[in-house]
Amino acid sequence: MERGEKLYEGKAKILYATEDPKLVIQYFKDDATAFNAQKRGTIMDKGVCNNRISTTLFTYLEGRGVPTHFVRQLDDRSMLVKRLAIVPLEVTIRNITAGGMAKLLGIEEGIVLTPPVFEWHYKSDALGDPLINDDHIIAMGWATAQELAHIRAESFKVNDALKAFFNQRQLDLVDFKLEFGRFGQQILLGDEISPDTMRLWEHGTRRKLDKDRFRRDLGSVEEAYQEVLRRVLGEAQPSTARAT
Ligand code: 5GP
Repeated sequence: MERGEKLYEGKAKILYATEDPKLVIQYFKDDATAFNAQKRGTIMDKGVCNNRISTTLFTYLEGRGVPTHFVRQLDDRSMLVKRLAIVPLEVTIRNITAGGMAKLLGIEEGIVLTPPVFEWHYKSDALGDPLINDDHIIAMGWATAQELAHIRAESFKVNDALKAFFNQRQLDLVDFKLEFGRFGQQILLGDEISPDTMRLWEHGTRRKLDKDRFRRDLGSVEEAYQEVLRRVLGEAQPSTARAT
């Protein structure tokens, strides 16, 4: 599949056209940003890790009945995906308190949430992706109530599937962000699923193995991405926590 013109460049990825107007190439960069792009850096081979991790997780989710934009991996840093009209929303599901929720409510990290917490955010860099509710979305015409119900149900399916997947690999899925888009009459899961977009803590030790290592200057950032890749590609781990 030939890479055509650049359609869009984001903070971590670039989209290129292909000869098929319905398909685009999603290219993963090593660039990393945090706190609304106030902090910038590079994480060596992050793009390679995130491409492979996303490829594996999209394939796994398709097998669990979640339709995604993923078509196939093309090379180390690129995947072929269906071209979506992105719904301007970010879904967050939280299984354990951390990050934005801990800050919003002034609570500690690490509290197990039962049931998991579902959030809508309006996708806007200028506004810092503010937390919104269904009424904002419907009143603004960003999606219908029926579409929201569908996206919510799909997101919980993703949570159940990914929790089980990472549990077998001795990782706790703390929280994650999803984006959806329209493809004809369908709504598909888009974007990426990687340590840039989810928090993963090692069972028992709670060692952070995600972008928080970059956000909070915790060190061993590259190693964390490689470790997640190794576990994602590897067989399920034995149930005892691995010693650090
Ligand atoms: P929080 O709201 O706690 O900052 O983020 C919740 C989860 O969603 C985290 O796993 C975080 O990585 C992901 N997330 C939320 N917003 C964004 C975003 O704008 N970009 C990326 N890459 N991840 C996000």
